[in-house]
Amino acid sequence: MAELEIKGLNKYYRLGNKTKFHALTDINLSFEKGELVSIVGESGSGKSTFMNLIGGLDSDFEGEIKVNGENIKNLTDKELDEYRKKKIGFVFQSFNLIPHLSILDNVTIALTLSNVKESEKVKKATEILKRLGLEQQIKKKPTQLSGGQKQRVAIARALINDPEIILADEPTGALDSETTSQILEILKEIADEGKLVIMVTHSEKVASISSRVVEVSDGKIIKDEYKSDYNKITKEIKEDNKKEEDDAKIKHKKKTNLSFISAVKLSFHNMWASKVKNFLIAFGVAISLVSLILMLSFGSGLTDYISGLADSYTNPLYVSISKVAKNPLKDNTGFNDPEELDNLIADINKQLEENDFEFRADESNITYGFNKMTFTSAQFTFKADEDNKYDENGENVVTNFIYFVYSTPPYYDETKMIAGSMSGQNEIMFSKAVVRMLGYDTYDDVVGKVKVTINIPSLNINTENMISEELNLTGNPTISGIIDVSVMFENFPVIYVDYDYLTSLIKFAGKEADFAPSSIYIKTDSEKTTNFINNYLSSLEGYSGSVEEQMAGMFNEMISTFSTALAVIAGISLIVATIMILVVLYMSVTERTREIGVLKSIGARRKDIKRIFSTESFLIGVLSGIVGIAFSLICGLILIIVLKSILGFAPISFRWWYFFVALGISIVISVLAGLFPAAKAAKLDPVESLRHE
Ligand code: ADP
Ligand code: MG
Repeated sequence: MAELEIKGLNKYYRLGNKTKFHALTDINLSFEKGELVSIVGESGSGKSTFMNLIGGLDSDFEGEIKVNGENIKNLTDKELDEYRKKKIGFVFQSFNLIPHLSILDNVTIALTLSNVKESEKVKKATEILKRLGLEQQIKKKPTQLSGGQKQRVAIARALINDPEIILADEPTGALDSETTSQILEILKEIADEGKLVIMVTHSEKVASISSRVVEVSDGKIIKDEYKSDYNKITKEIKEDNKKEEDDAKIKHKKKTNLSFISAVKLSFHNMWASKVKNFLIAFGVAISLVSLILMLSFGSGLTDYISGLADSYTNPLYVSISKVAKNPLKDNTGFNDPEELDNLIADINKQLEENDFEFRADESNITYGFNKMTFTSAQFTFKADEDNKYDENGENVVTNFIYFVYSTPPYYDETKMIAGSMSGQNEIMFSKAVVRMLGYDTYDDVVGKVKVTINIPSLNINTENMISEELNLTGNPTISGIIDVSVMFENFPVIYVDYDYLTSLIKFAGKEADFAPSSIYIKTDSEKTTNFINNYLSSLEGYSGSVEEQMAGMFNEMISTFSTALAVIAGISLIVATIMILVVLYMSVTERTREIGVLKSIGARRKDIKRIFSTESFLIGVLSGIVGIAFSLICGLILIIVLKSILGFAPISFRWWYFFVALGISIVISVLAGLFPAAKAAKLDPVESLRHE
């Protein structure tokens, strides 16, 4: 059986819709091991077409190309890849070395695609490179070699898998005469060792050293001539190789593939070759990750800060319960129904009992409070004293401008006072903002001097006329002091009224039936009990915690609007980054078209090509993620320092999982962006890729 037998081979190139070009016509040829065949013929006669068909780069033909008796037309795509990898060694006119790989890696690439062990690869490659006189060049890059050296590397690459057939398409076309003879000498030697070497050449001189010359003209064989010494050589070799033929079948052979680690290495080499470009992409992605991480950290930082403030203003031994109103301005949020309150307390006590708490809520530890939501329209008239006249009547009337009216929580004490003291009967307290809004310069102008008329028509309250010895009411209340409402809320105008004082006003007005407390306080025995009750309350609908918690909640809502805006920005920048990666990878496929052709010619499967490109996009994702995390940390720390010096606090909290999310997003968008270019690369036609300039 002949090593290579071609029967009735016809090749058509499709040009447009219906027209075809008949590139090869009825080729019948048979080749044996040990032959050094020169294919000669004018340019455009079909020599390369013929080589590509034999090499399995193009399987669109009619007729038979039998290798060891097996028609390669019947091979599946996978088997054809295996055929190129194991049976064929390609040598090209333009060397087609992969520029970003070292000489050693260029030679071993076919073994890498077969997942051969590193040590074995190096051993095999150095052996062959030594034989070709290249042992000094192993670590160099292709650009550092001369033409002749490059072609010797290409031959080494073709030989590495010990193929049976070497196909060389004008291997000396780009070389001077001296190096040409060197290369021919090597090819002759390879043939003498028992391989079939088929070489395309233009040169008569080159053809003259071969054992057989086949001449092609317009796609037809016009001459097939053996040289004298041919028979002698081939006969010997024929005997030698007879035994090997049986196990040389391509089918049913165990197939080995490019490993993930090798793909990473290959991608890494390539990325390193264009490191500036890759770093710039990573930088672009990183910027969007930074905005994402900072956005998240800012959101959680503010939340932490506010809930921290709320915590610092509540007492761990008090549970505050308020009713949540859907519309705080309209809905009645008081505990109007005594039964509801009793049931709530009973529920809490039941939970405490079931969970082995000793504490029970009862009249001895429950106190009441209210907030402005109890009133539908409260009017406050501020009366300045003699020295602080504001209009001709000596009154400074401000109506409905106070947004927050609260009863003083039972856990507030003198430590919160900025000026004056806590309020009692016939007294109220202002927050700093109220003083400012009224136009007073100092607290001293206010404390103990300013009188206020509280006017709540819905409850018949007007303090001006409310004087009663029995109820201890002396008319308009004075300002007992200025209270510090936390840093965050200091710009909020809040008026604190003692709960007992308010109830005595209500009593005077005879409106007890229309008024109900809007919040209750339970003084517990321990922080643990407080936390337990708070947890239970948060599982119930319609109740919320302390006033401070409600304020914090309101802030959080404002912040979440802000965070959403930031999230949209981060989202858009991530989309831009994705498109950027896609474009760069797509360009990289175009740039590396020839390299992809080379890889295919040495047996890389579609899957391998896809894997190399996907790995690269994965690596870009990892790199971007790491750069993004690093920048986020740096920017975050700078922001913290700047904000601290300006605001006195920095609402930025990193959570460790933000970094994982950012890394994950980075990898996901990179891999997604890489899918399309990788698929395009895998689909490239090897013959066209190799022709690509
Ligand atoms: P050679 O290598 O002998 O110079 P080729 O085998 O490259 O010639 O080309 C043989 C003929 O087939 C030429 O006329 C060429 O224009 C044509 N040809 C080669 N490739 C294609 C293709 N992909 N589509 C159409 N025609 C092609
Ligand atoms: Mg050609």
